[in-house]
Amino acid sequence: MSGSNAFEEMRQWRHWLHQHPELAFEEHQTSDFVAARLEEFGLAPHRGLAHTGVVASITGNRPGPTQLFRADMDALPIIEANDFAHRSQHAGKMHACGHDGHTSMLLGAAKTLAASRDFPGTVHCLFQPAEERLAGAKVMLDEGLLERFPCDAVYAMHNWPGLATGELAVHDSAVMAATIHLNMTITGHGCHSAMPHLGRDPILAASQLVIALQSLVAREIDPAKTAVVSVTKLHAGEVENAIPDYATLHCDIRYFDPDVGEQLAQRTRDIAQGICAASGVTLSQFDLQFGYPATFNHADHAAHVAQVASAQGLPVQRDRYPSMAAEDFSYLLQQRPGAYVWLGNGPAQTGAGLHNPGYDFNDKLLTIGSQLWVALAQRPHGTAAT
Ligand SMILES: [Zn+2]
Ligand SMILES: [Zn+2]
Repeated sequence: MSGSNAFEEMRQWRHWLHQHPELAFEEHQTSDFVAARLEEFGLAPHRGLAHTGVVASITGNRPGPTQLFRADMDALPIIEANDFAHRSQHAGKMHACGHDGHTSMLLGAAKTLAASRDFPGTVHCLFQPAEERLAGAKVMLDEGLLERFPCDAVYAMHNWPGLATGELAVHDSAVMAATIHLNMTITGHGCHSAMPHLGRDPILAASQLVIALQSLVAREIDPAKTAVVSVTKLHAGEVENAIPDYATLHCDIRYFDPDVGEQLAQRTRDIAQGICAASGVTLSQFDLQFGYPATFNHADHAAHVAQVASAQGLPVQRDRYPSMAAEDFSYLLQQRPGAYVWLGNGPAQTGAGLHNPGYDFNDKLLTIGSQLWVALAQRPHGTAAT
């Protein structure tokens, strides 16, 4: 496959995927598209893990370890603001995180590897549903991904706006944070706003709670550790001259250290209960869910990807801070050694980073990313450079 033809084909795939975004666990057209391409390459993709997941194994022409490469396939419930020809044709859905690009890069690599077989061992190309919020990676693992597709190492690439086009950031350990989702309801007693002494005001209690929660990171978490507590929803009241019965809040919490997560879970509850007690209202709901665990690279495998990328002539940053965003590849990295790396998407247009309605994947990464996958296939961790 010549370079420019390969690029043009990946670009067409990427633009088709961008036009046909599908949300988590609904990636039916996407899954059909991916499987059809893999079959064209002469592969026999396995389908159905986590509903829409696709896995294609490719065996090289000499013995070696087995590697798993992951691309995510799902889009987001965002109304696209772009007006270019490949804009979303699915109302209210958009590839605003570049998973269209990740899927196309891995398809491009699969085509090259299937045609040449010029690599040691085996590569499992994993096309995963539902990276956004619904933990498609965990569902695939729960459904036996690693039993069906045993492997020695796992890797994923994610485009990264703000990092120069084609530049990598490879972290030795923490890359992405863990999450906690917390829903709370404060129940008071509604009354006429001119007669507050006849009621119990949940809005005042909720307001105090928002402020008090900000003391957690500032005063209780070890300053050498990292955490974020954000109240992202606060709903109360309908009527201009009435104090409502209740207020609801959603709190989004991020951290790396599991002990910090436990501390935040306990102390948010203590503070919410304490403020409600002091305010004479009731904490009638405290629904705390631990979300994705933090994503930790394995240092040896991170160093290996960095070496492979450098040998490709790509600049690699090794000292970049992690992100407080989260990623379900964390579940795979809990099971197997490997690395999750950022591939620079170029300078973010003003305000058009990941999950922005004006975002678009940078097509220049298609060649860079697929060639990096091929290079990694040709040189697995623990084998000498050839
Ligand atoms: Zn995303
Ligand atoms: Zn993403």
